[in-house]
Amino acid sequence: MTKEIKKDDAAPAEPVCAICGKPITNGVTIDHVIPQAIYKWNEKYLDKAEFRELRRRITSPRNTVKTHRHCNEHKEESIIRVDTLHVSRTKRAKLRATYTAVEPYILAFLENKDKLRERQQGRCYVCHAPIKNGVLRRIDDELERTWDNACIICHRCNCKVKSADVKSYRKHFRSAARRRRRRAKTVQPAEVKPPEA
Ligand SMILES: [Zn+2]
Ligand SMILES: [Zn+2]
Repeated sequence: MTKEIKKDDAAPAEPVCAICGKPITNGVTIDHVIPQAIYKWNEKYLDKAEFRELRRRITSPRNTVKTHRHCNEHKEESIIRVDTLHVSRTKRAKLRATYTAVEPYILAFLENKDKLRERQQGRCYVCHAPIKNGVLRRIDDELERTWDNACIICHRCNCKVKSADVKSYRKHFRSAARRRRRRAKTVQPAEVKPPEA
């Protein structure tokens, strides 16, 4: 790495990734310590004022840290570890305060997610691979975030769903799997043709 003197008016020191503790040399990602999913999945179940208050706390800069993009992408969505983050003492106090203020919502969210995972027998809603934690998604993106319209998928599928909703991706995944099976069946009794003379 070449050591260049960068013009950096805002921060003299390189920011440190809150997840791994190493300096971030390029591409800072802002990470919400208490996931935004917690307020999003509560919108249907709270009255407006309560919802707004929850959203305000979770979207506040007090709830954000700087991280590497890859560290942020690889963390487990619903595991919140305020105490292991590489942050200053004052920052940690702020994060803890936010955590305490919204804890009942976090616990309810995690409980709902656990129940859903159990209902899916610990497997990805799309590919049926076993999941430890998984990503919570809507089945149909046109419908609201309710637990009836929720599913948990594995990280792999989540990367592949992209802009499609899970419902249509699942359909696509299933028919591709069927095609593969069919092809395997028809290919198996390989007729051995003698080479043409
Ligand atoms: Zn990192
Ligand atoms: Zn999957």
